Amino acid sequence: MKYPRRLRTYCPRCVKHTEFTVSQYRKGKDRSLAEGNRRIERKREGYGGQRVARQRRTSKTTRKQIVMIRCTVCDYQTSRLGVRLRRLEITA
Ligand SMILES: [Zn+2]
Repeated sequence: MKYPRRLRTYCPRCVKHTEFTVSQYRKGKDRSLAEGNRRIERKREGYGGQRVARQRRTSKTTRKQIVMIRCTVCDYQTSRLGVRLRRLEITA
């Protein structure tokens, strides 16, 4: 799907329509010392099989793509679109 790089839409902070820049959301890097990761590591320690299932294969062939939009006037950022797409193209 194609999406414009710039668009005019309502900004709740400016309380009017302004120009927004569009970018694609990307997941941040996982922290290995986060509580959830430490918990899973603790469960995997020692003998006794897998207590937390490892995801080996997924049936989905697409991902939910999220578009981030940022107001060029006040820098307010919000997200848009969480639709399953094979590819998201941000065009000029
Ligand atoms: Zn704004």
